[in-house]
Amino acid sequence: MLVRKAIEVSGIVQGVGFRPYVYRLAGELGLAGSVCNTSGGVSIEVQGAPAEVDGFLARLPMEAPPLARITNITVREIPCNGDREFQIVATDRAEPVRTLISADVAVCDDCLREMFDPVNRRYRYPFINCTNCGPRFTIVRTIPYDRPFTSMAGFTMCSACQAEYDDPGNRRFHAQPNACWTCGPQVELWERDGKRVEAADPIAETVARLQAGQVVAIKGLGGFHLACDATNADVVPVLRERKRRVEKPFAVMVPNVDAAERFCDVDAAGRQLLLSPQRPIVLLPRREKTAVVDDVAPFNRYLGVFLTYTPLHHLIFAGGGFSALVMTSANLSEEPICIANDEALRRLSKLADCFFVHNRDILLRCDDSVVRVAGGRARQLRRSRGFVPVPVFLPEEVPSVLAVGGELKNTICLTKGRHAFLSQHIGDLENAEAYGFFEEAIEHLQRILEIRPVAIAYDLHPNYFSTRWALAHSGLPQIGVQHHHGHIASCMAENQLEGRVIGIALDGTGYGTDGRIWGGEVLLADYTGFERAAHLAYVPLPGGEAAIRQPWRMAVAYLVRHFGCDFVRELPLVAEVPKTKLNVLFRMMEQGINSPLTSSCGRLFDAVAALAGVRREVNYEAQAAIELEMAIGNSGDDSAYPFDLVAEGESWIIDTRSLFEALLRDVGGKVSVGDISRRFHNGLVNVLAEVSSHLRERSGLERVCLSGGTFQNVYLFERLGFRLRKDGFQVFVHGEVPAGDGGLSLGQAMVASRAIST
Ligand SMILES: [Zn+2]
Ligand SMILES: [Zn+2]
Ligand SMILES: [Zn+2]
Repeated sequence: MLVRKAIEVSGIVQGVGFRPYVYRLAGELGLAGSVCNTSGGVSIEVQGAPAEVDGFLARLPMEAPPLARITNITVREIPCNGDREFQIVATDRAEPVRTLISADVAVCDDCLREMFDPVNRRYRYPFINCTNCGPRFTIVRTIPYDRPFTSMAGFTMCSACQAEYDDPGNRRFHAQPNACWTCGPQVELWERDGKRVEAADPIAETVARLQAGQVVAIKGLGGFHLACDATNADVVPVLRERKRRVEKPFAVMVPNVDAAERFCDVDAAGRQLLLSPQRPIVLLPRREKTAVVDDVAPFNRYLGVFLTYTPLHHLIFAGGGFSALVMTSANLSEEPICIANDEALRRLSKLADCFFVHNRDILLRCDDSVVRVAGGRARQLRRSRGFVPVPVFLPEEVPSVLAVGGELKNTICLTKGRHAFLSQHIGDLENAEAYGFFEEAIEHLQRILEIRPVAIAYDLHPNYFSTRWALAHSGLPQIGVQHHHGHIASCMAENQLEGRVIGIALDGTGYGTDGRIWGGEVLLADYTGFERAAHLAYVPLPGGEAAIRQPWRMAVAYLVRHFGCDFVRELPLVAEVPKTKLNVLFRMMEQGINSPLTSSCGRLFDAVAALAGVRREVNYEAQAAIELEMAIGNSGDDSAYPFDLVAEGESWIIDTRSLFEALLRDVGGKVSVGDISRRFHNGLVNVLAEVSSHLRERSGLERVCLSGGTFQNVYLFERLGFRLRKDGFQVFVHGEVPAGDGGLSLGQAMVASRAIST
C-alpha cells in the first residue's frame, strides 16, 4: 500500500539548500514525488510506503540545513499517482516571490575540509562556500535572490562551478555565490597608499605583517576589520590611539574553542554560542593573567570573543598560528564600519598600516553581533551579522510600517504580515556617516524585503535625527512613540504578548511626554498606550551632556537635592573640583540653567558609581554603570539600601534620600566598593518588586516586562527576574532582540501598526 502526502513548509527555506536537502532525504527513503519553491515557502509531495513517509515527516524538520528556519509545517493526505521518481520542479513564477533572505553564515565544515585539502580544486581558496554557508544578506542588491542580483553578478561561473550549481544532488546546487580560483573573487594586499604589494601569496604576506606588529585592515563579510596581534603589548595601544578609542573594550577573534578557553571561562551555553553558525562576539568572563594583553579590555571582567567565520580568517589563523587577534570594526570611534575598498583607503589610511582587500563587493554593511549569556540563555546586545534579516515573528498579522528607532545604537524596523524585520546595527545618528547609512539601510531593506510602509513610527524626542527624518516624510501617517513605551512594546512583541502588562523600563535617556528626560519608568502598557505608574524622582542633569560624561556631577545633583549645597561642599567627592566651578554648578541647578530634569536610571547608577569611588568620568556610554556592576564581589552580603516610595495620586515616586544616607554612611565607614554596589543593586530590586506588587493590587496585572539598556546589567536582570517570579509574577524579558535602544524600533513598529489598524 502506498500513501501520498502534500507538505507545505514556511519560514526561511529558500536559498538555503532546502530543495536539494528534500531531494536527498526523499531519495534516501526511496520516496517518489516533488519539491518546489512557492510564494510562501516550499511545497513538497511525497509518495511511498507509510513507514517511509512517516520517517520523512519526522526527519524533515530535524535534519534541515543549518540556515533554514522552519516556522510552520502543514501536512495533508492526497491521492496517489503514478510517480516513480522524486524531482525538483521549477518555481511557479505565476505567484509573486515572497521569500525570506537568509543571513550571512560562517563557513561550514564541509567547505573547510575542502579548503585545506591539497588535492581539492578549491585548496586555500578564500571564498569557498556552498548552500549551507557563506555570504547572503551583505551581497544582495535586490530580489529575487539570484546571482545576477548579487555582487557576484560580475563573476561568470566556470564550467566546473556551473555543473555543481546545476546539479540537484550537489551541495552547491543554486548556491548563488559559488566560485573557485578560476572564476571567482581574488584577494590582494595593498600598502597604506593603495599600492598593490607584489606578493606571490598575499595571505602569507598579510600574516607576516600581523606577526611584525602591524595593524591590518582586513575586508570581511559585513565590512572591514582592523586587526592586530592581541598578545602584542606594543601594537594594541597603537590601535587604541589611532582609533581614538580610549578604554572601550576590543573584541578578539580566536581560531577555536580551546583558544577561547585559554582566555575566558567558557560554559556550555557560551560554547554553543561561539560555535553557532552566526558566530557572534560572545562576552565571556575573562581569566586573569593570559596572553591577551590587558589593554584589549581595560577595567573589564569580560572579554568579547568570537571564532573565525570566513574562509579568509581560517587561512590567516592557520598561516600565522595566532592564538588571538584583535578584530575591531574598521572605523573611527563611532562612525559606521567601512565596506568599499576605495572608502577604506580614504577613511582608514591613518588607522591601518596596510589593507587586505578583495573584489567581491559588500553591498550593505553589517557589523559583528554581540551576545552574552544571562538568566541561562543568550541575550542579544547588538543584533547584526548572522541574524539580520531573519525576522522576529509577531503574534499576529500587522500592516506594513517603518519604525526609525532612536538616536544611539540605532536600528530600524519594517513589518510585513507576521514578520518584523529589524535592521542591522546602524550606530549613533549624530555621526554624519552613520546618518547616511541610516538612509541607505531604509531604502535597501524596503527594496530587498519588498515592503512599502503605510506609516512611519518615530521617537518623541524632537532633536533625534531619526525623528527629523520621519517628520520630513510627510506623505505617510507619522506616529510618535514615547521612548519607554517603545521599549516595553518591543519586549511584548518579542514574547508575542497581547493585552496589558506592567512594564519596567530602565535606561539612560528617553524623551518623556512632559518634555523631561525619563529613564527610570514603570508603565502600565499595551500596544495602544500607556500610563506612567511609577518613576524615579526627578533630579537636575547639571550641564546636560557634560553630566553624562562626568558622573560626579550626578552625585552632586542627588546630594544637593537631598542634603543641600553646604553639605556637599564638605565632601571628599568634590575636593578636586574648584570652588568657583562648584558654585556655578549649584547656581545652574538652582536656576534650572542647562540642567534639564531627569528620572534616568542610568544617571542614578552614575551617581552611585561616582560616590562609591568607581569612576568620576567616563570614556564611553554607560561605562560607570558597567564598572559598578563588575565591582560586585562574592561576599554573599545580601543587605540592601532602602529607597523611599511616595504615593502621588494613583502613581508612585521612587525617591532616594534614604538610599544616599545609607550609601554615605558606608562610604564613610570604608565598606568595600563590592558591597556598596551589591547593596545598591539589591535595593533597586526590592523597590521595583514593591512597586510591581502595588500595581498588581490596583490593576490585577500579573505579567511584568523588563526592557531598556539598564537590563544589560546581568546582576540586576537576574536578581529582579528571580524576585518577581518568587512574588508570583510572570516575567518577560528580551533574548532575540536587544533590551537597549537597538531593540527600540521593534516596539515603535508594533505601537504604530496598532495605531493605524484601530
Ligand atoms: Zn559550505
Ligand atoms: Zn569556478
Ligand atoms: Zn532607551
